[in-house]
Amino acid sequence: MADITFNSPALVILLGPPGAGKGTHAPSLGSHLLIPHISTGDLFRQNICNRTTIGIKAKGFMDYGRLVPDEIVLEMLFARLKQEDCKRGAVLDGVPRTLIQARAIDREFSKTHKLNVILLTLDESLLVERICGRVACKQCGRPYHRKYDPPKNELCACGGTLVQRVDDSEEVLKQRLEIYRRQTEPLIEYYKPILQEIDGNQPKQEVFRNIIKNFTLEPIHA
Ligand code: AMP
Repeated sequence: MADITFNSPALVILLGPPGAGKGTHAPSLGSHLLIPHISTGDLFRQNICNRTTIGIKAKGFMDYGRLVPDEIVLEMLFARLKQEDCKRGAVLDGVPRTLIQARAIDREFSKTHKLNVILLTLDESLLVERICGRVACKQCGRPYHRKYDPPKNELCACGGTLVQRVDDSEEVLKQRLEIYRRQTEPLIEYYKPILQEIDGNQPKQEVFRNIIKNFTLEPIHA
């Protein structure tokens, strides 16, 4: 059981293969724990939209389902974690993805932050269906799933157009999965002593209930 308190900032790491639900649960977990959620994938996509140097460098890797080099990821992540809203910590979605990233996060934060790691598991048979049915609003970013959370009239509730991520195609997914197995799965062993495993095959409310069971929340005293 992990305590998230005002005086001891926490980093909550969500691990799991693409499609396991990290992006679905990270925002709700962040709201529940009153800390921001940080998705390195979202940060890269914003950088691409804004045509920043980071975005230009990252795009070539992302479009082909490859990992962006560690030093780019870490510089962007650490800069984000130094912002004021992260003083009690953050929920990390999609990072670390390599041992180098995990060790760098340890070096930078293990003295000041409590680390919590949640592994969302998912049966292989569900992966393709989960990923390839995903769409998101071009305007507000709200995610939908064509089968599990279908949009009305092919539009977002805000009226925005829905688009599929370039890297959510079946072909790119194969590459992302292979990279996950080779580079990210070793983190399961690395974090073993503090890892909580959650079955991600359940309906999403059930998965979330199981995730938050791992945390006791102390009230914030301003
Ligand atoms: P995601 O939205 O988490 O699926 O990330 C989309 C893409 O962004 C990944 O396939 C990678 O190309 C890149 N990316 C996101 N986070 C990382 C990371 N921690 N390390 C390397 N590449 C990343």
